[in-house]
Amino acid sequence: MDLAQLQRFKDQLLALRDEATQAGDVAIEPMNDDPWDRADPDDDLPLNEMNQIIASERNRARTGSLEQIHAALKRIEEDPDEFGVCLTCDEHIDPRRLHLMPWTTICVRCLSEREQEGSLRRGRRKHLLDF
Ligand SMILES: [Zn+2]
Repeated sequence: MDLAQLQRFKDQLLALRDEATQAGDVAIEPMNDDPWDRADPDDDLPLNEMNQIIASERNRARTGSLEQIHAALKRIEEDPDEFGVCLTCDEHIDPRRLHLMPWTTICVRCLSEREQEGSLRRGRRKHLLDF
């Protein structure tokens, strides 16, 4: 990967990091503590809790974790030759995939193999339980 490309990914990662640390998060609705607005608190409260959980799940799934972004930036600084190389098979990760998620450290092929292994394992476990 040439330096210009590397710099682009670095800029992208820095922007993602800023977004993740600053105003990027979806606002989490405060709990409704107004007693007049809670005719049936037993029904109302779990819904608020649910909304909070959904909002924080959404924040987590929105982008790579800060940890992943920091790790990718560190790779660019310390080991630029290794950036964009799959940690599992040492092949170059598809640039289109890198543009979508510059923090990734695994190529599509290894990822799908890993997912297949996971589902096979689940399948076997289910099979064993059938006996
Ligand atoms: Zn791979």
